[in-house]
Amino acid sequence: DCIAPVAVALDGADLPSGAGLPRGFGLPDDSFAHDGQITRRAIRAVTLAALGPRTGEMLWDIGGGSGSVSVEWCLNGGRAVTLEPRTDRIANIAANIKAFGLADRMRAVQGAAPDFLHDLPAPDAIFIGGGASATLIDALPPARLVANAVTLETEALLIGLHAQRGGSLTRIALEEAVPLGRMRGWTPARSVTQWSWP
Ligand code: SAH
Repeated sequence: DCIAPVAVALDGADLPSGAGLPRGFGLPDDSFAHDGQITRRAIRAVTLAALGPRTGEMLWDIGGGSGSVSVEWCLNGGRAVTLEPRTDRIANIAANIKAFGLADRMRAVQGAAPDFLHDLPAPDAIFIGGGASATLIDALPPARLVANAVTLETEALLIGLHAQRGGSLTRIALEEAVPLGRMRGWTPARSVTQWSWP
């Protein structure tokens, strides 16, 4: 009976429940080597959904931090170049490439945007998690674009881009329950303004 083996594989009957990496976006922050500068799990999930990885597509992840956005892009079938100026964060990105087994599809490049961009393989999508500026935006090749802002200055830039070019502008506010004395209370994270285009 040729149906049975397929059914077993889909079932995962021979794997313990919860084994392996889950499908989809938003791995826990502590799955990654990071120094606190990381796009938080829920924001990362929304960001990856906006980026929309497809098999074989190339992402430029500008302001890579820990590389978590690139890692999830690659786990969902893509390839990525992660641009980050800080040596300590390049080390975290390299550690994450290794830990997730992505050496064949993800590369860390040390440098600051908009320099260094001309040498990279052409992107299908670009994520800007740091280093956003009008100069950078103007220097980018055509590609799907997602940018996150937590500062007023970057938010102002994104509000202007939305007025000029359209796309979607979204504000994401998250609160998490944490201990408050002997009880619990909501602690808000900094809100993120996200512009995605087209
Ligand atoms: N998405 C990342 C977090 C980004 S934090 C993650 O999930 O880990 C923003 C990063 O942008 C910082 O690491 C900072 O060093 C980097 N950055 C700042 N200016 C930059 C520039 N001009 N070019 C590239 N990266 C820049």
